[in-house]
Amino acid sequence: MVKIALKIRANLENIQELRPCGADFRWCLKFTCSNCGEKSDKWNYISLSDEITADHGRDVINFSCKCKLCSRVNTMTIMGDSLGFYDVDDQGKLKKIVIFDCRGLEPSDFSPREGWIAKAIDDGKEFRDVDLSEGEWADYCDKIKQPVGIYDIEHNFERIK
Ligand SMILES: [Zn+2]
Repeated sequence: MVKIALKIRANLENIQELRPCGADFRWCLKFTCSNCGEKSDKWNYISLSDEITADHGRDVINFSCKCKLCSRVNTMTIMGDSLGFYDVDDQGKLKKIVIFDCRGLEPSDFSPREGWIAKAIDDGKEFRDVDLSEGEWADYCDKIKQPVGIYDIEHNFERIK
């Protein structure tokens, strides 16, 4: 098994902290099969709250799929204690936001989509269900009387040893 960290970078406008909503957050990923190298074009949703029992019945996993090409069944588990956040002090840097435990596959692409929580600076409003499908998000905080936004989202994957 291989542990892969998903790191994100974003520009925050009057936002103190951006984080996934928790166990129900749906990570939207594409995968490459480590066995045959098949790169799937399909987006898959993986969530900590989807619990599947693996074939051998011991482990609980969060995702399972059969490779179209080599028919191997590959699985993935989200490390529940790895859920992170992106803070105003992290701007400009890539920061780990979750770790995936991958068996037989590796993520090749990530789409941020929906389910983010963004908290405005200066004890402003907490925006729930922030949608980053377009790669950015903008709103107005009536508590701090300032526009708020999240822009230029980027990501990468990093193997953890
Ligand atoms: Zn394969």
